[in-house]
Amino acid sequence: MWSGTHPAQWSAPNPEGFARAFGLHPLWVHPDTLADDLAQLFTRLSDTSSAVGEVGLDRRAEASLELQLQALAPQLQFATTQTRALILHVVRAHEPLLSMLKELGVTRFMVHGFNGSPELARRYVDCGGLLGIGGLLTRHTPRLHEVIRQLPLSAFVLESDAPDLPPRGAAVSDPTDLPNTGLIVAQLKGCTVLEVARQTRENALTLFGLPIVQSSSRPRAQ
Ligand SMILES: [Zn+2]
Repeated sequence: MWSGTHPAQWSAPNPEGFARAFGLHPLWVHPDTLADDLAQLFTRLSDTSSAVGEVGLDRRAEASLELQLQALAPQLQFATTQTRALILHVVRAHEPLLSMLKELGVTRFMVHGFNGSPELARRYVDCGGLLGIGGLLTRHTPRLHEVIRQLPLSAFVLESDAPDLPPRGAAVSDPTDLPNTGLIVAQLKGCTVLEVARQTRENALTLFGLPIVQSSSRPRAQ
């Protein structure tokens, strides 16, 4: 999944081999351009069957939380009425985000770069969501390790967030980091990396409405 998070990226050519998502990221919300940006976004989304994201709430953003909520609500409504998946970005704003998800009946989403408690993880999963797990797992993140231990594999998708959230020791992240992330998940769950790969892949394909092809199945002997 390749996510375009601001106007310049929405018109960029589609990188080969990636499904797309488009959204107005909270760090790009600006009061003077919000109406025009949303109009442009919805035109772009309507031309495609893309997912919506990254969208969400971020307390580090320049825009006030109130303005971010104003930007987020129509994007959540679009995704819900058009049955699109959402990639949610949330930093220190879980309560207002969860309230809005419930209020608008949003159930088809992943919370990317999840790094909260097992209790918070369950609240998102109870709303129908998935948790995006990536490079943070390679760092000293005991709480996140506990999330992996306590929740079932059906709750997770693996992500790189490339080039952000790099694994320990790396300057940037990359989609080729995923097998290593899967290995850590397998160690924490006491299962094989193949089981992790199969289940998280299926979770992601189901979330984004992409065809599930059994690439690992071998042709039967005649
Ligand atoms: Zn993000």
